[in-house]
Amino acid sequence: MGKIDGFLEYERKVSAAVPPRERVENYNEFHRMLSQKEQQLQGARCMNCGVPFCQSGYLFGGMVSGCPLHNMIPEWNDLIFKGKWELALRRLLSTNRFPEFTGRVCPAPCEAACTCGLQNASVSIRENEYSIIENGYQNGWICPAPPPARTGKKVAVVGSGPSGLSAADWLNKRGHEVTVYERSDRPGGLLMYGIPNMKLDKAVIRRRTEIMEQEGVRFVLGSDVGREVAADDLLDGYDAVLLCCGASNPRDLNVPGRDAQGIHFAVEYLSGVTKSLLDSELTDGKAISARGKSVVVIGGGDTGNDCTATAIRQGCKEVVQLEMMSAPPTDRAADNAWPEWPRVLKTDYGQEEASALFGQDPRRYQSTVKEFLKDEQGRLRGVIVSLLTPQTDPATGRVLMIPTGEEYEMSADLVLIAAGFTGCQSYVAEAFDLLLDERGRVRTEKFQTDIPGLFACGDIRRGQSLVVWALKEGGDAAAAVDEYLMGYTNL
Ligand SMILES: Cc1cc2nc3c(=O)[nH]c(=O)nc-3n(C[C@H](O)[C@H](O)[C@H](O)COP(=O)(O)OP(=O)(O)OC[C@H]3O[C@@H](n4cnc5c(N)ncnc54)[C@H](O)[C@@H]3O)c2cc1C
Ligand code: SF4
Repeated sequence: MGKIDGFLEYERKVSAAVPPRERVENYNEFHRMLSQKEQQLQGARCMNCGVPFCQSGYLFGGMVSGCPLHNMIPEWNDLIFKGKWELALRRLLSTNRFPEFTGRVCPAPCEAACTCGLQNASVSIRENEYSIIENGYQNGWICPAPPPARTGKKVAVVGSGPSGLSAADWLNKRGHEVTVYERSDRPGGLLMYGIPNMKLDKAVIRRRTEIMEQEGVRFVLGSDVGREVAADDLLDGYDAVLLCCGASNPRDLNVPGRDAQGIHFAVEYLSGVTKSLLDSELTDGKAISARGKSVVVIGGGDTGNDCTATAIRQGCKEVVQLEMMSAPPTDRAADNAWPEWPRVLKTDYGQEEASALFGQDPRRYQSTVKEFLKDEQGRLRGVIVSLLTPQTDPATGRVLMIPTGEEYEMSADLVLIAAGFTGCQSYVAEAFDLLLDERGRVRTEKFQTDIPGLFACGDIRRGQSLVVWALKEGGDAAAAVDEYLMGYTNL
């Protein structure tokens, strides 16, 4: 710790966002980063506590607190305070291969666990991380570094989301020959075709995958394993296969009128907009459009928020987000003490934008769709919303949301279902003869499936999660694959 009283002397300061009304005019990232000097002072706020929960990644009550990657946060905070940016970068990269992703999209469980957070002013860990990596790129410190020697072992990675990229990077660094199979036309998984461009500029993903290619990782795009590429060809042609296919089965809403035209899953919608943006600057007309429409987003979570923000940028008439659960409290409840993840109301960028444009928060809690209404041509014209109330199931202790009997009708021309995911897609499981658990996740023992040489990691194994967990799983699975191939691992 370079500055003993830094947390007393300097206030928490984070980057300013472009005002909502201005930023909805385009799909660009909208945070104006602090200067290097200002970021150094933010580094000085870290006390290097005796028990730094920020880097623990422990699960409290099923929620993570602290960084799952065990980033050595107090060390690099100290280094940036001292202006030793390159050393800070080396320290950061030793645990997190892609801080440019987490620095933009991680919900920062590290900050929830920061001791300064006890006074609601945690160290700005995520932005410090972002500054370290972007400084690294600007100064030319991030450049291709192919492994000095090859092991002669070949590994196929299926899926190029954060778990696949992380595993491929570690395995390649170890000297294995890595080929990444990706069914989509661009690498990145949900980083590319899920998270919108305003949260994570797609050039940031390209910048990284180009370096990986120069380091020797081969990407085979447009290649659907289990359909166009036979599972047996991979199992026979490689020394190990690692499945990183995500949990892309969307949870549906089976209510009357579901077949109406104008109802789409969130990722189908979001990915179409990003693809059109990248292919043609949105001129090809191929994306589902919210222009001039009344939009209902089903799901009040992060994915629903991304849909809200995207619909606003497309020029929707109005947008409402329906959420089944009750609104969380604005402050921590008594049974949700630090350093647990704070289960409090958070207003995300899309909701902020909706409030600025339409004068109210788009979220409606304790609400679900009971029925979709269509016109004579089968087009969506509205929804019937049913109100819910929480009730504890005496048998399980779980809180169930029960209809109150109150309902109302709302007009809608576009519905986006952002109600979560139910696990691995069935054709992948069938192609590899995989065992799934009751939540559709691939069953593994230390990342190894019950088929020798076949491994799985990321959302396909863990269920829908976070980028930081996908990176962690990719690294750990790479070590398991390496041990299988070499009899030991130094990853
Ligand atoms: C809309 C949305 C927004 C999100 N925002 C955030 C956020 O802000 N912060 C955060 O931390 N997390 C966020 N998440 C969650 C996060 O993106 C995921 O947890 C993470 O991407 C999972 O990584 P993964 O590598 O396991 O899978 P994915 O990212 O889903 O990647 C899987 C890849 O495998 C490919 N694939 C699948 N099957 C095959 C096959 N048979 N052959 C070839 N390729 C195949 C897919 O095309 C895809 O590219 C978000 C999720 C969604 C849906
Ligand atoms: S990866 Fe996420 S949890 Fe870990 S230090 Fe970065 S922002 Fe915090």
